[in-house]
Amino acid sequence: MSQEHKTHFSLEVFPPKKEEEFDNVYQLLREFGRLKPDFISCTYGAGGSRAGKTIEITSFIQKELQIPAIAHITCVGFTKEDLDKNCTALKDAGVTHVLALRGDRPQTMSDEQFNQREFYYATDLVRYLREHTDLSVAGACYPEKHFEAPSFEEDLRHLKEKVDAGAGSLISQMFFDNTFFYRFLDKAKSMGINVPIHAGIMPITTAKQLGTTVSLSGSSVPKELADIIAAYGENKEDMRKAGIDYAVRQIRDLKEHGVDGIHIYSMNKIKTTAEICSML
Ligand code: FAD
Repeated sequence: MSQEHKTHFSLEVFPPKKEEEFDNVYQLLREFGRLKPDFISCTYGAGGSRAGKTIEITSFIQKELQIPAIAHITCVGFTKEDLDKNCTALKDAGVTHVLALRGDRPQTMSDEQFNQREFYYATDLVRYLREHTDLSVAGACYPEKHFEAPSFEEDLRHLKEKVDAGAGSLISQMFFDNTFFYRFLDKAKSMGINVPIHAGIMPITTAKQLGTTVSLSGSSVPKELADIIAAYGENKEDMRKAGIDYAVRQIRDLKEHGVDGIHIYSMNKIKTTAEICSML
């Protein structure tokens, strides 16, 4: 690997769910800012709920912290008109980068409504944004394939379409076994996907968190991580330390392999994220 290679480091945050927690978020963001990430992305509620909050947070990151911000944006439940309004609000807020996602069906949405969406896949959203706005657009990718895709190869073919439509970089779904990520990178490269790919890392600090994460992401749990949960799951502080240590070892290995970027799913936990950064 050349000396000049830099592995980018980025964080993901989410807008607090309760209004009363919102005041504290700016202090939290300042603390995340001190970790000097190359960018911070902020999620978007399923079906576009609390969209304004994503814009407020990314605007603060961009303008006040002067750190590049990426606003996640989903298209399920959105018309072109809604999207245009959202893009104007992003522009007015000084946000220039988005992560264009399809999103999942919210529990309150019927299958019929879900299937009638105006932008069917993230690729349609990427194409529209590139044709109608000045926004820089990134997309999501899945080292262990997206749960709806019939095969890894088919998912990658659609990923190539997303990149060809204008996704300039990719952020991956979380994974706990780096071998899946390396296999994915090799295959993506062989298919001509040459944009930077940021590896999604979720530090697991409680047994419960692993259960929720796996059911939402479908990521596989390697034996080593399962053993950590079995050994430390009952002891809060030991589990936290072991989970941080696991994430740090995963990140070190990825950096040694010269990956383009590490994207930490911070879950708004500053203590855990700061500890990981200090160990690296
Ligand atoms: P797509 O790229 O559209 O893919 C969805 C499925 O469709 C895949 O199986 C793909 O293979 C298939 N597909 C694509 N094109 C075609 C085609 N032409 N024909 C047939 N099949 C096709 N969700 C939120 O609600 N808010 C967030 O903030 C959020 N942030 C995320 C951040 C990251 C980094 C990731 C990885 C996911 C995030 N998600 C978020 C979850 C995401 O919305 C879901 O995973 C969703 O199910 C898929 O979104 P996508 O953009 O990857 O979809």
